[in-house]
Amino acid sequence: PRRQDGDAAIRLTDSDAALARLSAVKKHYLTDPFILPFIARPHLQPHRPPLINIGTYVRSEALDDLVDQWLTLADQEGKPCQIVSFGAGSDTRFWRIATGPKSKCLSKYVELDFSEITTKKAMAIRKSKELSALLGRPEDVTLGGGGSALHSPVYHLLPTDLRLPPSQSFGPLLAAAPTLLSPSLPTLLLFECVLVYMTPACSSALIQWFTDYFAGATESGVLGAVVYEMFNLRDAFGKVMVNNLKARNVTLPGAEPYPTVASLPSRFSSEDFDYASALTLREIRRAYIAPSELERIAQLEMLDEIEELELVLEHYAITWGVKLGSGADGLKASW
Ligand code: SAM
Repeated sequence: PRRQDGDAAIRLTDSDAALARLSAVKKHYLTDPFILPFIARPHLQPHRPPLINIGTYVRSEALDDLVDQWLTLADQEGKPCQIVSFGAGSDTRFWRIATGPKSKCLSKYVELDFSEITTKKAMAIRKSKELSALLGRPEDVTLGGGGSALHSPVYHLLPTDLRLPPSQSFGPLLAAAPTLLSPSLPTLLLFECVLVYMTPACSSALIQWFTDYFAGATESGVLGAVVYEMFNLRDAFGKVMVNNLKARNVTLPGAEPYPTVASLPSRFSSEDFDYASALTLREIRRAYIAPSELERIAQLEMLDEIEELELVLEHYAITWGVKLGSGADGLKASW
């Protein structure tokens, strides 16, 4: 059936993201000691073109920086924070945080994806001594859901279809496991290249449900959200991107309502967030990457066409927002 084919094609985008990251790591744009266990035959995987490596670098640095700011601010509030990663795929962020200076600021890290992806990831984690060791004592790490879920004191991996009505999927799940995510702790929702694959109705239902759960439940609830996605798909280059994906049976219904960078913050402002903002990767590269870093990455590979790079980066953006309960004015001022 067509829908199933579409879902299989969407799941394959996880390999694209992981291979792009691997390429940027092998070419020394990024450091990621945890990526190898998630990739089959990593030494045989081809490098991606310099344009893609730079895009991966800018996206990764910008998202790491936002997550790091979130951990720092939550820590300043005196509360450990929770992170929920939607469509986490083969992402290694949990292990990078767990081995970094802010590991103590994190109380829960929950990853969600299709069960095919979470099963594969749970298996990769179990096979890797290095990844498993960072989850805690072996007796505290358990598999569930026939191998599609993994639980440990801080890290949880859960299978789901994010398009299901959240009141039916997450409602019963969180009611049955009240220690999984506490509504009274500062929580960051991460949507890294996932909302574009869902209809706007599904993604806003998802954001709305989690907003109600975290920001609505208590006085001091604090919710942050970060989205990375393709946008600006109506120009000639955007159409090429859309057609390339369509040829692989991947459609991008989530990008439709966001033709411009100015339209992106409405993902959050429409949910009554106190603050929402968006920047393109082009803007981030120009204004937020340190000159010394730009110089360093310029030495890594030949790139002839800066215009072409900027054209590509103009089609990706990061949007972030924050919604506060009444007890969190410190965060309001800083984010
Ligand atoms: N966030 C990771 C990253 O940036 O490296 C992976 C991004 S990958 C492009 C998109 C991921 O979202 C895939 O792992 C895919 O399976 C997941 N995904 C897309 N639609 C989903 C849905 N309806 N339910 C669960 N997962 C979904």
